[in-house]
Amino acid sequence: MNILVIGAGYVGTTTGLVFAELGHKVTGLDIDSRKIDSLNKGELYFYEPGLEDLLINHLEKRNITFSTNVEKGIHENDVIFICVGTPSNEDGSANLSYIEQVARDIGHYMNGYKVIVDKSTVPIGTSEKVAQWIIKNRLENHPFDVVSNPEFLREGNALHDALYPDRVVIGSSSERATSILKELYKSMTCPVIVITPRSAEMIKYAANSFLAMKISFINELARLCDKLNINIQNISHGIGLDKRIGPNFLQAGVGYGGSCFPKDVDALLDTGFKYDTNLSILEKVVKVNKTQYLYFLERARQTLGSLKQKRIALFGLSFKPQTDDLRESPALYIINELLAENAVIKVHDPIAKLPLDIQMQGVVQYTSPEETAKQVDAILIGTDWPQYKELDWKEIKTNMRTPYVFDGRNMLDANKLKEFGLIYQGIGYK
Ligand code: NAD
Repeated sequence: MNILVIGAGYVGTTTGLVFAELGHKVTGLDIDSRKIDSLNKGELYFYEPGLEDLLINHLEKRNITFSTNVEKGIHENDVIFICVGTPSNEDGSANLSYIEQVARDIGHYMNGYKVIVDKSTVPIGTSEKVAQWIIKNRLENHPFDVVSNPEFLREGNALHDALYPDRVVIGSSSERATSILKELYKSMTCPVIVITPRSAEMIKYAANSFLAMKISFINELARLCDKLNINIQNISHGIGLDKRIGPNFLQAGVGYGGSCFPKDVDALLDTGFKYDTNLSILEKVVKVNKTQYLYFLERARQTLGSLKQKRIALFGLSFKPQTDDLRESPALYIINELLAENAVIKVHDPIAKLPLDIQMQGVVQYTSPEETAKQVDAILIGTDWPQYKELDWKEIKTNMRTPYVFDGRNMLDANKLKEFGLIYQGIGYK
């Protein structure tokens, strides 16, 4: 099939490449010509393991091309995936202006039957809005269907997740559109569920909110474990073995971040508010998350005293490992808090780059963790990049001013570090 993917970001680029891999002809469309130029050159402008090789391969085979030409893209493709951003508005609701613009473009340029597939994460009822926006801007009376097909990929694992999803959710009320979507996903071996568009939209928000809830649950419990001198890692392990609970998303740390969980939980809370239903559990989930990095810093303060003029090395900037995505990264919140306290900050990340506005405030990024840790009073772990486990911690300690390690991700081997004379403190974990 000929597929147009609108929005060549993390999700759109991955989606386009996966459909190219499954044998379709794909056009990736974006309003940002720099992204399009880079992708057409075979250069992935963001970090995602394995994706650039696939990009080069399918560009060479001419299975995928990238463009800014909206009219041509819509004319030449009958299946159109919407993968544009849906960031938060100030009040927590989802900003649908990018989706609306795409719907208008589709209405304006459509030249025959189109299936419009929404992969962006959107509030319940958006499929109906998309249909209305298309109708309002349609110049000729061409038929179309709008389908909700939420995406569940994780950055850092995007390719694997998109090729081998746990499930495919098709929210459709049209048999014609459903059969096209089923054909597109026919090689997937996972369950494919067909439900109403509203249910599909709700599944995506419910999934992310549930995962965020698991994280806030374990983080809050870790605070109690600190008081009781219980190791939260053992608790996570012990409850995670229960098949009803499962082991994932039970790692205590500085809280969740990224471009999805914070905004999606906020958007579901906003939906609850609009429909007069108080989602009180989710309110607490947000509250715990917003204070978790502060709790982490408070624990460091209890050991180090005031952080003013303390030399701090922060390992990890991205919101999680294997990505350069800094959106809502707890590490950036930590930096801002340290800056407010006049700490001297050195940072390291294997991939992510320190934003310019933070560099301007005197924070320096180093290329090696060893260099970052030289002459510091403490190391803070902001992201659990696996390479931090493999460092020569004995050597690192010899170059530190004082040997404190505050592990905001509970990722290091506490016993090993202690053997080397480091003073280790995790979250609910010593
Ligand atoms: P992104 O910001 O990386 O990409 C969005 C792209 O859309 C940008 O390149 C932007 O230039 C482009 N765009 C905006 N308006 C456009 C228009 N009118 N025409 C063409 N292109 C336009 O966002 P993302 O991380 O890929 O997320 C996209 C959606 O998928 C969001 O709703 C997000 O919640 C959801 N999602 C994201 C992830 C993830 O891990 N990033 C996972 C699942 C779902």
